[in-house]
Amino acid sequence: TETLDAGFLVRWLAAVAEDVDREADRLTELDSAIGDADHGVNLKRGFAAVTEALAKEPPASPGAVLVTAGRQLISTVGGASGPLYGTLLRRAGKALGEDAEVTRERLAEALGAGVSAVSQLGGAQPGDKTMLDALVPGVEGLRSSYEAARAAAEEGALATVPLQARKGRASYLGERSVGHQDPGATSSALLFAALAGTARA
Ligand code: ADP
Ligand code: MG
Ligand code: MG
Repeated sequence: TETLDAGFLVRWLAAVAEDVDREADRLTELDSAIGDADHGVNLKRGFAAVTEALAKEPPASPGAVLVTAGRQLISTVGGASGPLYGTLLRRAGKALGEDAEVTRERLAEALGAGVSAVSQLGGAQPGDKTMLDALVPGVEGLRSSYEAARAAAEEGALATVPLQARKGRASYLGERSVGHQDPGATSSALLFAALAGTARA
């Protein structure tokens, strides 16, 4: 099977940064309905810092790329999503260790460990209308293929619309959070779309 090196992971995160830039207004708009209208701005700042850090000193292994990216997100994003996405990537990076190349299956396993850490940090479960509603099916899909991951995460994000938020700012709205797509689940779907795009390129 094909393996992924540090360069692949750097290209993935650069693609995420591009997608976040392009979708920033939409993410902020979703956050204005059930949050504080800063999700696009938060992630734009965070992934710009990720891209800059990776360009300045390209890490030697896929694991090191993810650890560096996670650290940047934690230190540059003020909102809840910074520590959560930062934890996702840092924990996944640690799970990959220092191997120069990894398989898709191992990346899925590592991101699975990252998703567990996100759940532990934020106390949310799937169904609570958070990023986990896209991350959990996305990682599960990644065990079979990049395209399955992209489709499952997208579906998971869309499925947050009828849910009532039980974690994060949106939960303050109670029943009024119903009928809106969760911004974090939407950005999580972008992560898997960018991954599938990078794998196709
Ligand atoms: P903030 O809410 O601090 O302004 P953002 O707007 O950047 O942060 O991110 C909001 C997103 O973070 C939500 O849409 C949700 O997906 C995610 N989120 C918030 N709290 C949690 C949590 N406890 N667990 C998982 N995800 C969460
Ligand atoms: Mg917000
Ligand atoms: Mg905020």
